[in-house]
Amino acid sequence: MIVVMKAGATKKDRDEVLKRIRELGYKPHVIHGETRDVIGAVGDERGKSVLQSLESMHGVESVVPILQPYKLASKEVKKAPSVIRISEKVSIGGPQIVVMAGPCSVESERQIIETAQAVKAAGAHVLRGGAFKPRTSPYSFQGLEEEGLKLLARARELTGLPFVTEVVNPETAELVAEYADILQIGARNAQNFALLKKVGQLKRPVLLKRGMAMTIQEFLMSAEYVMSEGNQAVMLCERGIRTFETATRNTLDLSAIPVLKERTHLPVVIDPSHGTGNYRYVAPMSLAAVAAGADGLIIEVHPDPEHASSDGPQSLKPAKFAALMARMRAIAEASERTL
Ligand code: PEP
Ligand code: MN
Repeated sequence: MIVVMKAGATKKDRDEVLKRIRELGYKPHVIHGETRDVIGAVGDERGKSVLQSLESMHGVESVVPILQPYKLASKEVKKAPSVIRISEKVSIGGPQIVVMAGPCSVESERQIIETAQAVKAAGAHVLRGGAFKPRTSPYSFQGLEEEGLKLLARARELTGLPFVTEVVNPETAELVAEYADILQIGARNAQNFALLKKVGQLKRPVLLKRGMAMTIQEFLMSAEYVMSEGNQAVMLCERGIRTFETATRNTLDLSAIPVLKERTHLPVVIDPSHGTGNYRYVAPMSLAAVAAGADGLIIEVHPDPEHASSDGPQSLKPAKFAALMARMRAIAEASERTL
């Protein structure tokens, strides 16, 4: 249910409503608006009619049901787009399109620093790099783990770029959060509810990737898991879904951009690297994503893709990435955004 407060409601009115929501066994989430606050009351759907009684409280204008199964993620609760602060200089969800770039995996100090400097020079806003890698095969490179996090922190120190890196299980989530600016939940963990709840309790923005066989509704329900634990800073990342097509690694669902924009206030990020699996297709899909209204992109860049430990075939060399940035900037400007 959404409790819409009157424009002139006081803090005391609001606190009374919050208290009553808790007494009824629901979790209140306050969303501050320009002229009024709304309070989302989420919890077990079966007893929702008891919340209707809040309508008689002082300062309350109305109590309306949220029709979608996802609540906090829904536009019914919050119409204005959410702007998520990543660092002092970088926010996502506003007019600026945020580009995250870097290797699939952190491999060495030299590799991550060279890549960080190259993507920064090209105008990227955030560095990416996997330290804990969720690999399909147990025999593949599993990442440098904490050593990788330290190297990412070193690259941040040298370039000023905040970084995004993956969290693969609840046990190591706090360790990753000590270093990282953004916690990535990978496609393979998109419905790992214990992990989603864990990152929901941490105070770091989350980049949630869409699972390879997930509907948009399931995707939003996963975001809801994170948000219902108290962390509202969720970015939704479309990274391709599995279809009958084999010419590309996955089928990048660009229609997810307008569909998500219609249903949620959360920023939408596109990953054309995993979405196609082929460096030659990364540029056209990136340009299309900007034109379609994406708030951000996450792109794999490697100085020596032929020798990359993971995802070399879909990684751009720095020069190609820089050329793509210039083209994306032109499309962003034509769409009244910046990049
Ligand atoms: C990655 O970002 O390197 C990755 C493993 O992505 P996904 O979870 O989308 O496959
Ligand atoms: Mn990868």
